[in-house]
Amino acid sequence: MIRDSGLADLHAHLTTSIHPSIYWRIAHSQGFKLPKKDYHEFLEYVTLSINKKTTMKEYFDTIYHPLLNKLSSGTYAVEEGTYEVISGAYRSSGINLIELRNNPMKHNHEGQEDLDHIIMAMLRGMERALLEYPKVSAGIIFCLDRQFTYEKNKIIVEKAIKYRKRGVIAIDFANYDTGMFHFNEYSDLIEKAVREGLKVVAHSGETDDTNDMWEAIEFVKPKRIGHGIKAAYDKKLMKELVKKEIVLEICPLSNIATNAVENVDELRFIIRTFIENKVKFCINTDWPEIIKNGKLVEQFEFLNKHKILDEEELKRYNSIALTSSFIPGKNLSAYL
Ligand SMILES: [Zn+2]
Repeated sequence: MIRDSGLADLHAHLTTSIHPSIYWRIAHSQGFKLPKKDYHEFLEYVTLSINKKTTMKEYFDTIYHPLLNKLSSGTYAVEEGTYEVISGAYRSSGINLIELRNNPMKHNHEGQEDLDHIIMAMLRGMERALLEYPKVSAGIIFCLDRQFTYEKNKIIVEKAIKYRKRGVIAIDFANYDTGMFHFNEYSDLIEKAVREGLKVVAHSGETDDTNDMWEAIEFVKPKRIGHGIKAAYDKKLMKELVKKEIVLEICPLSNIATNAVENVDELRFIIRTFIENKVKFCINTDWPEIIKNGKLVEQFEFLNKHKILDEEELKRYNSIALTSSFIPGKNLSAYL
């Protein structure tokens, strides 16, 4: 079994990696009012599947940001959430390398709590998990937001630099653009982050066109790109990805559930096109606990069952994830 050799997940968001039962517990322990009184109704309300799709924008605007981010805000929720995600991924999927991403400014109740307290809570959650599961390695990626002002994003980069030695390993660009965002404004800030030892990744080529990926490559110079699936329709871009050795973090079920990819056939076309063109990629979860059967082992089974990747290929692309990780060492020792 592939999971015996240890799996790596390089693209998972804190908000969508917390199991609804944990949200349920956290919410009740803090007295939060939930939109559903019954657990199973809540579960149905927040989860997606390949048969219960939405668009990323709709899910972001109705559930992800207003509900799940709120429930995973505050020091208690952030610490518990981070701890549960890292330890749960190891227990259920045999994931022994996980890079967990989030925007700390989305977990402080709109600025009501101090950002350093939120970040420290996150790192405490990670340290507790690493102490309990010594075979696990983990790191935190801070997501900048395409809808934030440059000044707000700059604060996130400064915090990432500040906590670099404690487990913040990279910065990312996330959320959908409302027409205000330009990668070229971030060149200096990114250079500074890299100089300080951080790695850089960017969500791109998921729902937007490949122009965005070209810009990301030019101005961000990322080691990896989150999703990047639209490159399968741009030969020149695939050549560029190969030349620059950029690894695509493919998240199969999340792409189907959010309509970034139409169906299994399109997913198969995209992944086989990348293989034919020698584009490096790895398989990740993105939203493992919010998409039904979205855990990494389940996604591997899905790809195998639908003849998208065979056992050998799954092993090969898992090893690309292992070697493309930004985590600077093994287990807790990485930060000691
Ligand atoms: Zn993502």
